[in-house]
Amino acid sequence: MTAPKVDIAPGAVLVINAGSSSLKYQLIDPHTEQVYADGLAERIGEPTGSAITHEANGRNRRIDVALPDHAAAIAKVAELLREDGIFLRESGLAAVGHRVVHGGRTFHAPTVIDDEVRAEIERIAPLAPLHNPPNLVGIQAVSALLPDVPAVGIFDTAFFHDLPADAATYALDAEVAQKYAIRRYGFHGTSHQYVSRRAAEFLGRDYGDVNQIVLHLGNGASASAIRGGRPIDTSMGMTPLEGLVMGTRTGDIDPGIAFQLARVGGMSIDEIDHLYNKRSGLKGLSGDNDFRAILERVDAGDEAAALAYHVYLHRLRHYLGAYMIELGRVDAIVFTAGVGENAAPVRADALAHLEMYGIEIDPDRNAVRSPEPRRISTDASSVAVLVVPTNEELEIARQAAAVVAGA
Ligand code: ADP
Repeated sequence: MTAPKVDIAPGAVLVINAGSSSLKYQLIDPHTEQVYADGLAERIGEPTGSAITHEANGRNRRIDVALPDHAAAIAKVAELLREDGIFLRESGLAAVGHRVVHGGRTFHAPTVIDDEVRAEIERIAPLAPLHNPPNLVGIQAVSALLPDVPAVGIFDTAFFHDLPADAATYALDAEVAQKYAIRRYGFHGTSHQYVSRRAAEFLGRDYGDVNQIVLHLGNGASASAIRGGRPIDTSMGMTPLEGLVMGTRTGDIDPGIAFQLARVGGMSIDEIDHLYNKRSGLKGLSGDNDFRAILERVDAGDEAAALAYHVYLHRLRHYLGAYMIELGRVDAIVFTAGVGENAAPVRADALAHLEMYGIEIDPDRNAVRSPEPRRISTDASSVAVLVVPTNEELEIARQAAAVVAGA
């Protein structure tokens, strides 16, 4: 049944985040923050099990449907939207905002995607072979459906483009690094940018005056040190593999381990890549990458889960300590993303016994669950510890709308 036509405010943005077998989408007004529709197409290109979880007009549904490719997925999403009374082509969309994981050395700002830009994203795809090719497929599929709406690329690396050289440079043969564009790029930039701005607003202070450490703890996880609105360090590097322990990724690991696995274990580069990205982290240590399951198992006395939890925390505290020293003065420590927003024990354990550094969590405040930004430190804590829910879709929509408006 088709719903009555929904009035979409002119200037809304369709946000697209295309993965290798998934496509996340959100139709949002970046000015009022109203979300008209939101959803996820999964198992695109898989022989079985593909489905779309779709929400619009307060109605939530899951549709099992064959999705041979991304074009089929976006066509089906458009059809679902029509049933909900939303007609994408007639909605006066300002832009489609595409999340693009790797901007390489080229892209450091939101960029309208034309043939030249598409070719450049393709040229730098070897820097992110798992991510940029599916992003391009998403751009292609949506542009075919909405040829008259500007497509804007929002790059996950952009926020960190101007990292100071000391933080961005690997101590690798300089010529080799130059030849292969090897440097620390950083990722999750859209989230770190959104959350750090929001944290400053919450504190009622100018963004440029606040020194903060942002901990984006989701399935992927990264930390950043931001001095007065400018990142001075971040834990992800050339790829999103470096840094914190993640759901299925190693984070920091001795580079020599790859040699051992290849020489002694006879593993190929692709096998090692798969091992590091998909079979490691919390999952590799405990069998689970869902943090809820880890916490339940820790409570039940499970040793593998406890080890995974403590390895995760050890690395997190390692980065916290490093960034406190790098920043010198820390005004705020900010938790975000699935684990950071929801897992109170992780927040408490990450910052335990740091009173001598002016960091003190209030257990009652920490236990509160809320979708709003909030302070979880005591009034006596000189460092404000905050939970600030991330909203990458809103940030992408804002940046896309601004670039189209010529801001
Ligand atoms: P991503 O966007 O990187 O896929 P998310 O930011 O959605 O990830 O975070 C996913 C992680 O958040 C998962 O490990 C999940 O278990 C964890 N998570 C979600 N809700 C909770 C919760 N209530 N308690 C603990 N962990 C949670």
